[in-house]
Amino acid sequence: MALVPTMGALHRGHLSLVRRARAECDAVVVSVFVNPLQFGPGEDLDRYPRPLEADLALLRDEAVDSVFVPSVEAMYPAGSSTTVRLEGPLVTGLEGAHRPGHFDGVATVVTKLLIAARPDRLYIGQKDAQQCAVISRLAADLDTGVEVVVCPTVREASGLALSSRNAYLDAEQRRQALAIPSGLAAAVLRYDAGEREVACLVAAVEEELMRSPLLQPDYVAVVDPGSFIPVARARPNAQLVVAGKMPAVRLLDTVTLGVDRPPLVVPEALAVAGRGREQG
Ligand code: AMP
Repeated sequence: MALVPTMGALHRGHLSLVRRARAECDAVVVSVFVNPLQFGPGEDLDRYPRPLEADLALLRDEAVDSVFVPSVEAMYPAGSSTTVRLEGPLVTGLEGAHRPGHFDGVATVVTKLLIAARPDRLYIGQKDAQQCAVISRLAADLDTGVEVVVCPTVREASGLALSSRNAYLDAEQRRQALAIPSGLAAAVLRYDAGEREVACLVAAVEEELMRSPLLQPDYVAVVDPGSFIPVARARPNAQLVVAGKMPAVRLLDTVTLGVDRPPLVVPEALAVAGRGREQG
């Protein structure tokens, strides 16, 4: 049996995990839970989109076997006192540094979901690369026996990685957000041409990011995919990760060096999306 944990506001990225799980497992459970523990003070917990009826309709169309939609009170009843916390650079670096406590929230909810659903396999998205490393570590450390399946990032036609938070972007921000996949594409092209200096790959991304004044970069880094420790030289399977803030939303993206093709960026696709905007 497969578990696909989500926070809802489902898009094609989530559905790609559901479809893969459907193809590989006899039964599929999807959880929809906006986990307050993984939001920091001042983050978007209150305004996070919660279109539950639309989500349930999508999951009905995907013929999932069951949907788990717990309330906050059911997940964290009064008196709950247990937090699952990893230690070390995997949770203190990059996302961990910019969102203190975030991975405690992720680790705690994923552990509780694993205990509730007892899946054989857990399907998660590469887009949240550090989260993938945290969950894989946790699943191994706690002897869950769960096989963690990491699925590729699904993108809008423009090249922007699908995210429930993209709904916060206006047209201009969407245009400027394309600097992220453009930067990743530039770096992948340099890597594929033989460049192994991390500073050169990071510079290739930063050059693109600088073209978008609304985007304030948080970090650009090349890290070991398991430990999330920065690597001295780029190598196959190293993860190139980018995060930055738009006025209303923080964006994350990543590519696996030596594995992923450069993201295809098509700004003209934004005009089409603007007419019948793809949710995500
Ligand atoms: P979220 O609802 O944002 O917590 O995401 C639930 C799961 O969907 C996580 O494992 C994400 O990594 C995954 N996911 C989110 N966006 C994408 C995407 N664009 N492509 C593939 N998987 C995604």
